[in-house]
Amino acid sequence: MPGTHVELILNCRWLLPVAPVNEAVEHAGVAIDNGRIVAVGPIDALFERFAPNRIVDLGHHAVLPGLVNAHGHAAMTLLRGSAEDKPLQAWLTDDIWPLETAHVSPDFVQTGTELALAEMISFGTTCFSDMYFFPEVVARCAKQVGMRAQIAFPVIKFPNAWCQDTDEGFHKGLALHDDFRNEPLVTIAFGPHSAYTVTDADLERTLMYSEELGLLVQTHLHENQAEVAEAHERLGHSWITHLHERGMLNPSLQAVHMTQVTEAEIELIAEHDVQVVQCPHSNLKLACGICPTEDFHAAGVNVALGTDGAASNNTLDLFAEARLAALLAKHTTGNASAGSSQQLLYRATLGGAKALGMDAETGSLEVGKSADIIAVDLDNAAFFPMYDPISAIIHGAAGASVSHVWVAGQCLYDDRTFTTLAVDDLKSRVRNWQSRIRDGRRSNR
Ligand SMILES: [Zn+2]
Repeated sequence: MPGTHVELILNCRWLLPVAPVNEAVEHAGVAIDNGRIVAVGPIDALFERFAPNRIVDLGHHAVLPGLVNAHGHAAMTLLRGSAEDKPLQAWLTDDIWPLETAHVSPDFVQTGTELALAEMISFGTTCFSDMYFFPEVVARCAKQVGMRAQIAFPVIKFPNAWCQDTDEGFHKGLALHDDFRNEPLVTIAFGPHSAYTVTDADLERTLMYSEELGLLVQTHLHENQAEVAEAHERLGHSWITHLHERGMLNPSLQAVHMTQVTEAEIELIAEHDVQVVQCPHSNLKLACGICPTEDFHAAGVNVALGTDGAASNNTLDLFAEARLAALLAKHTTGNASAGSSQQLLYRATLGGAKALGMDAETGSLEVGKSADIIAVDLDNAAFFPMYDPISAIIHGAAGASVSHVWVAGQCLYDDRTFTTLAVDDLKSRVRNWQSRIRDGRRSNR
């Protein structure tokens, strides 16, 4: 008797579903139809049950949920390597903000975002969060390329190329939410840049609208010691307390960085079910500190991973973040059992999806979820022998090991070939931007 028709079956050497059980299974498969996972299990059983249109043989691959990059500024890829070896405040005020003032435009954001999407897709990220100017350009770009995204539109008290003031910013951001409200891949959120760059009135406005519309909020919080010291000097308490006093500590809040936190603040974050996003490379490169992920984890807080912008990383490789986060967890606790590979695989996938409010839709290979899936090619000397595919992925793999990427069942990266991005044209546009940015700096000297 012929089996049930499905569009696609992935025949996998190793399957890492993350949930319901976060263990590797050998010789397993995923059946996909209409963009969704319809079955997961032993490959022989799937071939008995289903008649697929197409089979993709992944005989020396690990297949896992697409990675979730829970914090970044995609278009900043164009500033990658432009300001190096500087502390956060000098990096921002001497380099990044002047460069942004001089160059940020819809075209800058379009080209920079496409470059980020190319990098993220080729490195196995299927869902990203973004916080940058011209969020409508980023949202359209994600939709066009076929990537899942949370677009947190910026709220910041300084006039910028996108909006003269926050009235205009809220107006544009809410219109964007209206435009994308029925879009399955793109959700809109609020992105107040940080408590120190947003007025109290705009923080309160963010809370009011987010509650009214059921939208999430992402902000940079306690990124470094200077930021926290400034709060104590100005307010007599920390920014976390400042947000708490305004009712902003709640499950809708995604707090990015959190490198400087007291025990009492960790308890407060746990009590209000705030989502924490760690960006280990950016935090180390800007000498900001280390997010105490294991303390958050012990308190029951969900922790996700982000690359931050490419200007402070410098790659958008979430495998590298997961590996570094695992090592930092071991180092900071003095306990080699902390930051296990299972835990980091979870944070890079389902934990990220949970932070972005998307865990019912993505983040694991479970029946009913969107087919957001990647394959990592393990046919390389570095992966022989293979005792534990999950630790091989966390401690051995890099983005460059990824060979296939699907989002909602659409293959965006097919045996290392992009299907929705014209990369040669993109590279030439990036080279043009590089010349403009370099020439602009020369003429300012
Ligand atoms: Zn950031």
